[in-house]
Amino acid sequence: MKLNNRQPPLLFCGSPLNRSHNDRYSATELSAMYRSANARITLLYQSQHVIAGDTIPVASVTPATPTTFRATFSYAELPPAIQAITPFALLGYDNNAPYFAINIAVAKTTHETDTTGELARVYPWLQAHTLLDLRAVSAIISAHEAAILAHARALFHWQQTHQFCGACGATTHLIKGGHAMRCLPCGQRSYPRTDSTIIVLVERIAADGQPECLLASHAKRKSGNKSGQYFSLLAGFVEPGETLEEAVYREVFEETGIRVSAVQYQGSQPWPFPNSLMLGFRAMTAERAIHLNKDELTAAKWFDKAAVRQLAANDQQMGSDRCYLPNSQSIARQLIDAWLHE
Ligand SMILES: [Zn+2]
Repeated sequence: MKLNNRQPPLLFCGSPLNRSHNDRYSATELSAMYRSANARITLLYQSQHVIAGDTIPVASVTPATPTTFRATFSYAELPPAIQAITPFALLGYDNNAPYFAINIAVAKTTHETDTTGELARVYPWLQAHTLLDLRAVSAIISAHEAAILAHARALFHWQQTHQFCGACGATTHLIKGGHAMRCLPCGQRSYPRTDSTIIVLVERIAADGQPECLLASHAKRKSGNKSGQYFSLLAGFVEPGETLEEAVYREVFEETGIRVSAVQYQGSQPWPFPNSLMLGFRAMTAERAIHLNKDELTAAKWFDKAAVRQLAANDQQMGSDRCYLPNSQSIARQLIDAWLHE
């Protein structure tokens, strides 16, 4: 990682779990481990996570706020109806504690439109807990738990969308602690999908000798709960048969018509919405003229460091005429901040 050491940890990075032994156990052994006193269990319902505590003042909590909220439970804490569910994954170990993930929606009754309220009636235990999506959860739990939940969420999404064999259509079965699937009729195996996504800070040196970076406002990206315009780096999926550097060249050219060189890798961040791995780069260009791809972007501009500092200052303010930068725990923001502090 070439990002600045003074920066806060990247969200969803730094899982404490050792994943290397996940595939060594039979179903019987996994079941015994799940019921053991030192097991930790995280619960998903669709794409939401169960948090201990009945009232969570999300808006008043920042990532730096000490928190007692937690997203993992012991087996003994769970009610019988939830204990009876077979885990969809052994995520790994922290010291000797195995971490499991379970999908509590599997025991719900029949309705596709099951809601939190209905689930709470099925499991009265849940009435003393809260369901939150990963973005909200990660603001109130420890960084280690956020990384574990990101692992669970990405794995869960992959399993949910690969329940049938892509070769013959038969039902697939989980193996390797939920980190692979096997089709019994045809033998096909499949493994968790990770979508490689490049994200790049493009720099140019202006006529006055000052460095500028290219920031863009994406057509599909909203500024969260803020009004105003959201500016970030250029990003896009890596295509089959393409190197990471080629993806950087192509994405920047497709979106802005700018040709870059000197592409250098900076670091990465898991981004489980649903299955991405963000791969951060720096690149240089001598070009200035931007030819905007309006299908992808609503704006793209060169910003000098004073202008970027102004955007950063806007993070603390509200207003429809404001422009914003990405969250400080995202690789996009950390690439920008590292450039800013050079
Ligand atoms: Zn098959």
